[in-house]
Amino acid sequence: MKSIAIIGGGLAGMEAAARLSRMGFSVTLIEGKDKLGGKLLQWHTLFPARRSAAEVLDILNKQVKLGVNILLNARVESIEKNDDGFALVLNNNRMITAHAVLLATGFDIFDASKKKEYGYGIYDNVITSVDLERIFNEGSIRTAQGKTPKKIGFIHCEGSHYEKIQNPYCSKLCCITGVNQAIGLKEMIPDSEIYMFYMNLCLFGRHYEKLYKEAQEKHHIQFIHGRLSEAFENSHNTVMIKIENTLMGESLKMNLDMLVLLVGIQPSQGIARILNDLDVENDADGFVKQIDNQLAPGKTTAPGVFAIGTVTGPKTIEETISEARAVTIEIADYLHNKVASRILMNESYFI
Ligand SMILES: Cc1cc2nc3c(=O)[nH]c(=O)nc-3n(C[C@H](O)[C@H](O)[C@H](O)COP(=O)(O)OP(=O)(O)OC[C@H]3O[C@@H](n4cnc5c(N)ncnc54)[C@H](O)[C@@H]3O)c2cc1C
Repeated sequence: MKSIAIIGGGLAGMEAAARLSRMGFSVTLIEGKDKLGGKLLQWHTLFPARRSAAEVLDILNKQVKLGVNILLNARVESIEKNDDGFALVLNNNRMITAHAVLLATGFDIFDASKKKEYGYGIYDNVITSVDLERIFNEGSIRTAQGKTPKKIGFIHCEGSHYEKIQNPYCSKLCCITGVNQAIGLKEMIPDSEIYMFYMNLCLFGRHYEKLYKEAQEKHHIQFIHGRLSEAFENSHNTVMIKIENTLMGESLKMNLDMLVLLVGIQPSQGIARILNDLDVENDADGFVKQIDNQLAPGKTTAPGVFAIGTVTGPKTIEETISEARAVTIEIADYLHNKVASRILMNESYFI
């Protein structure tokens, strides 16, 4: 039986594992943490449909448990390529062999404390969108002084479009995450005032515009085009921000009970060794390179090695799941050595 080792048990790895197993392959899913689910374990209500993350995870968990060999708390120490495929050595000295490897190791969150001028990690009432998801999961929100925040500001693009630290790209998930979270806050604290400060609004997906309109028309959330130039804590422990309103050509000062930084996503730092062992190249922005992301989804520069989900760039759940399903066909083609692929595609695609 042909076998596949999948590294990373977030939703990309879970979905691909379940599908490949149902196609009759022997699948081992290797997850570094003690639970499957990846970042979804941290999220509360998902855009665009505003359904619960726990519900999505529950469905994926049920599917993956059927026939997939799941290894938790497992770390790949080294990988060797041989004539038959790959030999992976894990942290407990266990060895796994596979005919193909699928990378689904996801992304890292931008560390907001790197941008000191916004005060994350310095001022008590400056938090990130990831912290806010935890707060939603806990079910109540308080400032560091124990009060219900009534005036809350969101700053878009924290750590994205940021050449200084080599994150020049748009993380594309943060704007809609902000809209989704602002609605969540309004539902939690109906008499709160919420302000979104943005330079670019990237609301590219289906139903995103609807959510954006709902935020403005139903919840009276205010969107202000402007760049945050300064944030500092004043004597009442509120956060004073100075915004350059680039459309009106004026600056604005505002006192907030809480400031939320919409943090971007960046390439996973913990997989350099694996990529090196597998001879997989990265793109210029540091995400894993696909040889052709339109015509050969998930194929990396190394024969027999595939990559899906956010390990190859910012992606929504919908995109990640679609890609996970698409790659199963690429992997099946590779393992069955289908002649049709050679005819339809340039020879170099069939590696
Ligand atoms: C704040 C925020 C909110 C979001 N909300 C939404 C939303 O509402 N709707 C939506 O569509 N999208 C949302 N997203 C995007 C969503 O989180 C991603 O689409 C999704 O997590 C991608 O899944 P993944 O499997 O590619 O990566 P991940 O979720 O990062 O999973 C990767 C997995 O690989 C494991 N791993 C990593 N390295 C190794 C290794 N070396 N060995 C073994 N295991 C390893 C990790 O432990 C993890 O379990 C949000 C993103 C952010 C930042």
